[in-house]
Amino acid sequence: MSPRLNLIVLGKQGAGKGTQSTVLSEKYGIPHVSTGDILRTAVKAGNELGMKVASILEAGDLVSDDIVNQLVEERFQQADAQRGVLLDGFPRTIGQAEALEGMLGEDGIKLCINLDVPIDLVTQRLSSRRVCQECGTTYKDADIEAISGTCSNCGGDVIQRTDDYPEAIRTRLMNYERDTEPLLSFYGSRGLLVSVDGDQGPDEVTDEIMKAVHERGLA
Ligand code: AMP
Repeated sequence: MSPRLNLIVLGKQGAGKGTQSTVLSEKYGIPHVSTGDILRTAVKAGNELGMKVASILEAGDLVSDDIVNQLVEERFQQADAQRGVLLDGFPRTIGQAEALEGMLGEDGIKLCINLDVPIDLVTQRLSSRRVCQECGTTYKDADIEAISGTCSNCGGDVIQRTDDYPEAIRTRLMNYERDTEPLLSFYGSRGLLVSVDGDQGPDEVTDEIMKAVHERGLA
């Protein structure tokens, strides 16, 4: 059995996956692997991958399984991933989940954490979310007035992600329901799913997740 702590954080866009993944990755000493971040970095760099996927990201559509699977497989080769990984935004389709099993072996995934948040709340969270163009710091609507368009972390411009515009939000949530929600049964049937109420403070959500990880003797 693989001793590595490979965790998946699943949930609708805006459920708090990024926030929780950042905290958990630090607590467990495993890298936070976000396919969304990898793809956005490529778009910003304007490299071949970035040019291929830019319009897909902007529309809120899904990048093909082949492209994303390859990115993840490459990321797994890096030294820091040998202790385990915290997957955020991957897998997003059954095809990706099956490919992941192929990459890690059937007992490779230790737990899939589903952040459960009602659709109205994630829609509201996404439309009021702002991010720093330079360092990626995310701001909730409560913070926006205070920072007035400038990142308090690095001084960069704070903007609205184009895929957080209303039309793209609708597309992303539709894609989630069609392509990603079936993963709840996929991991549930393998006894690997735990659902956590994501409609509470971030610290409470983290505590619940860590309790579930601990109860299973994973860390
Ligand atoms: P995220 O930051 O996870 O919401 O991802 C932003 C965008 O990147 C998504 O709306 C998709 O266009 C693309 N993306 C990220 N992860 C995946 C994935 N696993 N499969 C397909 N597309 C993805």
